[in-house]
Parts: sequence; C-alpha cells; structure tokens
Amino acid sequence: MLSVALIAHDRMKPEMKNFAMQYKDILSKCQIVATGTTGSIVEKHTGLNVEKVLSGPLGGDQQIGSRISCQRIDVVIFLRDPLTAQPHEPDISALLRVCDVHNVPVATNRKTADILMEYLSNKIAGN
Ligand code: PGA
Repeated sequence: MLSVALIAHDRMKPEMKNFAMQYKDILSKCQIVATGTTGSIVEKHTGLNVEKVLSGPLGGDQQIGSRISCQRIDVVIFLRDPLTAQPHEPDISALLRVCDVHNVPVATNRKTADILMEYLSNKIAGN
C-alpha cells in the first residue's frame, strides 16, 4: 500500500481539511501518517484512519522525516505557511532535505498537492 504523509501549519489547516475531503477516495487507498493536529482534523472531517505522530513543533516533523529516510513514505503533502515564522523551522528544513535526499515527491502548496494526487491516483491504478 502507498504511504502518504500529511502536515499543515496552523494557517493552512483549513486548506488541508478541504484537500483531504476532496481526495478522500484516493487517500482511503493509502496509509496515512500525519502530525498530531493535522491528523486529528483530517480524521474528523473524512472519517479516514490516520496514524498520528507528535505535533510538528513537538517533534512530529522529525518523526515523519525519520520514516522518509527509511523510505517508508511515498508522497509528502506539507502545506506550510510561508508568511509566519515557525519555532521548529530547523525540523521543517530537515524534513524537506530528506525528501530531496531520498527523492520523495513533496508538495508544499495546494496546486502541487493536486498534481501529486493525480500521480498517486495513477500509481494506485497501476499506471
Ligand atoms: P500539527 O503540526 O499538525 O501537530 O499542527 C504541524 C506543524 O506545525 O509542523
């Protein structure tokens, strides 16, 4: 089964909620792991089963980064807030870095996230 990681900064959580609702069908065919608060929101609004790690500022980004390093994640959707300083900026940079190290597709905005869902949908269909 394909594995998707979901992370959204606070101002981007409404966008993540809409995203997860729109792609519920595709996401239901994947294993989903998410940072704590993002995961709770996605679960609540989609009814999907989400494995939740710690909240991002408490180390959740690092936990997801560790899985990426172990090649256990196929796609990362990381709706980050480009206009607000984050206390865990080093963790965010590290997560994006391991995506590049391991050639894992990562979307940091909604349009790229839409494109990655099409990629996932094709993979699920075996194309
Ligand atoms: P959260 O973490 O989903 O627990 O809010 C996301 C983040 O800020 O990295």
